[in-house]
Amino acid sequence: RAKLDARGSFAFFEAALDARAQSRRKIEVELRDAIQNDVLRPYYQPLIDLQSGRITGFEALVRWPHAERGMISPAEFIPVAEDTGLINPLGGLMLRRACLDAATWPDDVRVAVNLSPLQFRSGNLLSIVTDALKHSGLPPRRLELEITETLLLEKSAQVLATLHALRALGVRISMDDFGTGYSSLSYLRSFPFDKIKIDQSFVRDLGANREAQAIIRSIVSLGKGLGVIITAEGVETEAELSCLRTEGCDEGQGFLFSKARPNAEIISLLAAQRGIDSEDAALVA
Ligand code: C2E
Ligand code: MG
Ligand code: MG
Ligand code: MG
Repeated sequence: RAKLDARGSFAFFEAALDARAQSRRKIEVELRDAIQNDVLRPYYQPLIDLQSGRITGFEALVRWPHAERGMISPAEFIPVAEDTGLINPLGGLMLRRACLDAATWPDDVRVAVNLSPLQFRSGNLLSIVTDALKHSGLPPRRLELEITETLLLEKSAQVLATLHALRALGVRISMDDFGTGYSSLSYLRSFPFDKIKIDQSFVRDLGANREAQAIIRSIVSLGKGLGVIITAEGVETEAELSCLRTEGCDEGQGFLFSKARPNAEIISLLAAQRGIDSEDAALVA
């Protein structure tokens, strides 16, 4: 009786694994197709200067409009793209498209693009970035590259050399999801980042949670000491925002300001901001 149950649950487990493998395989096939047919698009989420309230730039987040399933979340296909190597063409096309789009925005607005560790191992990241800049005409200072600390876990000399070369081009390097890894702090010694993005798990509950506020406070003071811009991810409430302001955090990003939007909406978003600015100017005058 017990034996039968054990066999039954094992079969169930096997079936579940099988379904998971099949679903990943399906995503891989369809993703390859989507890349080939140029279906993927960056959506852009604003980065807000918390002192002035102005948009300083946008983070490009990949979106996959799927014929049957609607918009598929990157959480579902980025891992598959990384396991299959598809992250290389995907990352390349995101970079090119983001630079082209950003080149049509006002000159003081940046674009941030996420890079996967695999793109660093491909060996030609530097020329891919250089080409995207040249082809779009986007000045390097308007491009930010977001990396996660898993990249630096390898402690590879080639990765560090590529990071330094990218920075020498004039692009900014941001550490994404800060605080989620095992030893975020030690990486700040191995590479001079321009920006640290505090992971949204630390922003959650700010205002209600004293520990969260203490952590934000120390990251902000770390940032000031290092001369690095501190951005808070996942800002959802006014309470979180006011706490971040109090602590002197430089930038914020989150649903409170805006979700990611297609490029077609970005110009009007910026125009609306400029409208507000000129109203302010009129009031002052
Ligand atoms: P990330 O780089 O940390 O991007 C921030 C994620 O947080 C985005 O999820 C964004 O939509 C979400 N977010 C923003 N504000 C809020 C908020 O107020 N509340 C909550 N709950 N979430 C918020 P998204 O677009 O689903 O992307 C997930 C992850 O997928 C990204 O995390 C990034 O690691 C990866 N990703 C997205 N696009 C690319 C890409 O082009 N290349 C690579 N390599 N990875 C990408
Ligand atoms: Mg990011
Ligand atoms: Mg992040
Ligand atoms: Mg994240």
